[in-house]
Amino acid sequence: MVTRRKTRQISVGDDRVGRVFIGGDAPISVQTMTVGYTHDVDACVAEIERYAKAGADLVRVAVPERKDTDALKCILPQVSVPIVADVHFHYQRALEAIEAGVHKIRLNPGNITDRDQVHSVIDACKERKVPIRIGVNEGSIIERKDKQRRALELGKFFAAHKSGHMLALMIAKLEEYLDIFAERDFHDIAISAKSMDASMVIDIYTEISQRFDFPLHLGVTHAGPRETGAIRSIAGLGTLLANGIGDTLRISYASDHLDEVKDGLELLYCLDKRTRKGVELIACPTCGRIQVDLFALVKEVERTLLPEIRLPIKVAVMGCIVNGPGEAEGADVAVFAGDRRGIIYVQGQRVANVPEPEILPRLLEECRAFEARVLRGDAKLGEKLVEIIPPDPIGALGSGAEKIRAGFVERITIGKT
Ligand code: SF4
Repeated sequence: MVTRRKTRQISVGDDRVGRVFIGGDAPISVQTMTVGYTHDVDACVAEIERYAKAGADLVRVAVPERKDTDALKCILPQVSVPIVADVHFHYQRALEAIEAGVHKIRLNPGNITDRDQVHSVIDACKERKVPIRIGVNEGSIIERKDKQRRALELGKFFAAHKSGHMLALMIAKLEEYLDIFAERDFHDIAISAKSMDASMVIDIYTEISQRFDFPLHLGVTHAGPRETGAIRSIAGLGTLLANGIGDTLRISYASDHLDEVKDGLELLYCLDKRTRKGVELIACPTCGRIQVDLFALVKEVERTLLPEIRLPIKVAVMGCIVNGPGEAEGADVAVFAGDRRGIIYVQGQRVANVPEPEILPRLLEECRAFEARVLRGDAKLGEKLVEIIPPDPIGALGSGAEKIRAGFVERITIGKT
């Protein structure tokens, strides 16, 4: 993994909701955006808090009309995370949002272009110490009047890229906009340059990470529903993060935005970019050896444990005793199923061998009890790994189920690392 690129740091928030730092050595934050109308105050607050509870560090709201910025005055005192006002076309909405006490402004250089208007927003932000994200989108960049000339100027840099022309335009637009901020000596800035094409997102952010030291807000825009959007987003953002690029991110789905938060956090956990909160679930994909309804079991374990357990306990749900032990290595709590039964281990100790209907309640009970022991200081996460010497590496003793029936699993050795 490449070391994270150093950027300037901005602070978003206030004394009441707390401050989220973006850039520098601050943890990479996860954002999402509300889908309801901002002027529907109660629903907007409820939606923001739903995302905050799931782990969103910041939430953005659209403010297309005056009634939306008016609503901010009622919304801001009721929420627990910093709020970003998403401003397009009307610079007055930015001024009204700042006046209402919003914590950050997003401006689109593609649709607020008047220099004096941008200056007035910058001045208001400067006075209130409100940072601004300059968010360039592929879709809104095509209005640039001198696009042909600027693209020719930058084009040679990007001749090898699939979308060199668009890359050149987006960078030109960013440079042009950043000049306006430099004129006002305003540097409390984050930048983004989103596209719906994951490979273009990788190219553009890689390029701007070398050109500017402002913190980068990553995103693949209009990524589609979760099924396809997740793959696009993880391909684009995962590649950038693994290359040390990115300070905050938003995954965009045309479906429940709660999944944007969950998947954004999971991406950061997987890449070791954030310290995990809650259970880490490992589960086998199952194969012809399976003898229990593992998918149902995994779903129930996930549904029950994820909202309940606060510590990053590693829980493995494995379909059999053949390969399961090796794949569950390192788990704090593990179950190996077979012959309509499940054998449960807690940090190397075999604690139960129960019939299938009892697997779920017993596993949950062991997870809860283990968390309580850790919280009391009687156990430590990851202290003892499940290390199992397979009793039958060449398979002469039969299938996993046959081994369980024959009692061979008793020969499994549980060791302390
Ligand atoms: S743990 Fe067993 S059932 Fe699951 S995939 Fe591996 S071999 Fe198949």
